[in-house]
Amino acid sequence: MLLVFCAACGTHVAPPPTINSAAPSPGLAAAALTTFTDALGGRFSDVLTPAEKTAVLNAKAIGIGGVSMRYIDAATAAAPDGSWTGDVIISWRVRGEKPAEEQIGVGFTQSGGAARISSFGGAGQPVPLWLLAPVTVTRSGGVTVISEGRDPAPYLRMGLTAVQQVRETIAWPDAQLVLEVPADESTLEQMSGSAAGAYRGVAAFTGPVDGRPRGPVHIFINPDVIGTGRDAQIVLTHEATHAATNAATNPHLPAWVREGFADYVALRAQDLPLSVSADRALATVRKSGPPKTLPTDADFNSMAEDFGEEYQFAWLVWRYLGEMGGPAAATRFYDAVGAGTKVDAALRATYGGLTEAALTSQWRTYLVKLAR
Ligand SMILES: [Zn+2]
Repeated sequence: MLLVFCAACGTHVAPPPTINSAAPSPGLAAAALTTFTDALGGRFSDVLTPAEKTAVLNAKAIGIGGVSMRYIDAATAAAPDGSWTGDVIISWRVRGEKPAEEQIGVGFTQSGGAARISSFGGAGQPVPLWLLAPVTVTRSGGVTVISEGRDPAPYLRMGLTAVQQVRETIAWPDAQLVLEVPADESTLEQMSGSAAGAYRGVAAFTGPVDGRPRGPVHIFINPDVIGTGRDAQIVLTHEATHAATNAATNPHLPAWVREGFADYVALRAQDLPLSVSADRALATVRKSGPPKTLPTDADFNSMAEDFGEEYQFAWLVWRYLGEMGGPAAATRFYDAVGAGTKVDAALRATYGGLTEAALTSQWRTYLVKLAR
């Protein structure tokens, strides 16, 4: 039960409570959810609403099963027309993936002693794309593109190249990559329940579909930003590295290790001059000398990938490590840190006793040399 108090009502006398037939009914909402999940399971007991029909078709195309939904409470008061948004816990499973579970908003309409689902999302809650809009699903070579109204071909091509490029550095035997491509940036905001502008300038990010550490990991594309050229490929290979190594939810990886390694993998596949790949970092070194410390977690935007100067500094640590020991040693060091070994101990074990302090000092000298 959601109680709303009116702070602005002042001395007005509240009207006596009346029975409102449109007040959100948990029982009717739960029955509406059952009608929908039955339809997802192939048991149709009623005519579907447009929102339900879209979701049922999407679920079939993606291979979603085992859906269950539990009504929690009303997230908004009922509008005069009997519509409201409710908090609902949904769990689902895509064939071949780990199960997912998340709290979402569901729009209901209620009239004549029954409630139906009118929409998914809203009330600032996240909502998966498959509940939000009609999608097409394209698959090839372990890459799946779930796309809303966008041509999936360039994303499929870049996804396949990303898998290939990641494999040039690390072993990824059973590569599975899922790209979700909403129609635009505002749909991406809606999917994650974020405020407007949360993904401005962000090309893509990688994370669990339900925000839980154990949830299935997808790459989410901002089609208004990413493009289809060389930079888009670098972003996708960077994100695919995160996906391949389960980096998004690994608490052991400092940001410079996670982000620098993903750029190391992505940029090994390119032949770019430093004036392009490290322009901002080297400009800073020229202006004010090398940073005193390796990039800290606080240097990175925790919400989204913005590929700023801090990414270039982190990548240059990995470029240096790569020049010292090659990609196999770099991968061993990354894996050791990811498994919980402290950076200093992992460096000593991989690079013949190299301490974190010595690496910092050598990297600073390296930066000065590159900036000349
Ligand atoms: Zn990243």
